[in-house]
Amino acid sequence: MVTTLNSGLIFGLTASLFNPVPRVFALETFKNCMIAARFLNGDWNWQWHQNPRNGVESSQLSALVDALTNVSFNDEADKWVWNIENSHIFSVSNARQLIDDINIPSGNPPTKWSKFVPIKINIFAWRLLLNRLPTKTKLNDRDIDVPNILCSMCNEVQGDASHIFLHCEVSSQVWVKIAQWTDLSFPQWLNIEDFWSWIADSQLNGKQRIIIEVIALSTLWSIWRYRNSVIFQDSRFRKYHIIDSFVVNFFDWLSSRFKKYKLDWTLRLQFAKPYVFLVICS
Ligand SMILES: [Zn+2]
Repeated sequence: MVTTLNSGLIFGLTASLFNPVPRVFALETFKNCMIAARFLNGDWNWQWHQNPRNGVESSQLSALVDALTNVSFNDEADKWVWNIENSHIFSVSNARQLIDDINIPSGNPPTKWSKFVPIKINIFAWRLLLNRLPTKTKLNDRDIDVPNILCSMCNEVQGDASHIFLHCEVSSQVWVKIAQWTDLSFPQWLNIEDFWSWIADSQLNGKQRIIIEVIALSTLWSIWRYRNSVIFQDSRFRKYHIIDSFVVNFFDWLSSRFKKYKLDWTLRLQFAKPYVFLVICS
């Protein structure tokens, strides 16, 4: 890669284009120094508080120099260039497409956007599908300091997404209760992908699939809310609220977005089972 720069911020450049070099940055006397000020007559002219020592500082300096090896200079003022389009002209739609390409998997995803749940629930589901929810395991993978990586609900097993939503003792009990309440039988899902595939592959008509998706999303969301309440010590959402949350969300989301079938609100008051909807929709 050849980048044409005249006086770019040397550490800003390396931080944005390459791996940051915090130890070397700490040694620099003038944090906002320009590349042109440090590269004179074909050689690097560093000005450190103290010379980099062997080890991390030395290796970071080597990485910095290596990263800048392919940078060439000219006399033009620095400018931002939108390299995504050949025209180099920025557009919001183009940026949006780029974000979607990153966040939304290509191919045939096992689940899709549901218009029967709030947008934030769809986003939550997509993040779960892509394994991008900020679980302790995920944060630890990103070198973010977490006290431990145990599941916050049971404190026994590593808290990755599959454990939190499917295999934890707490979530397992929730799924048993949801199965009883819905008169459905759930398999032992291996992981989140298996869970989504089970929904996608189930032999249901369109309306039944809507019900199952809302049941699944409402359950996942309620488990996530409880898990977060444990972490953030929010006493307003306790374990026994998980099922309550599921029921409230299920009826609220479905009844407000399924107006075609005019939900009888007395069903909710009677704690009606979801299969009532299946009958309504059949
Ligand atoms: Zn657990």
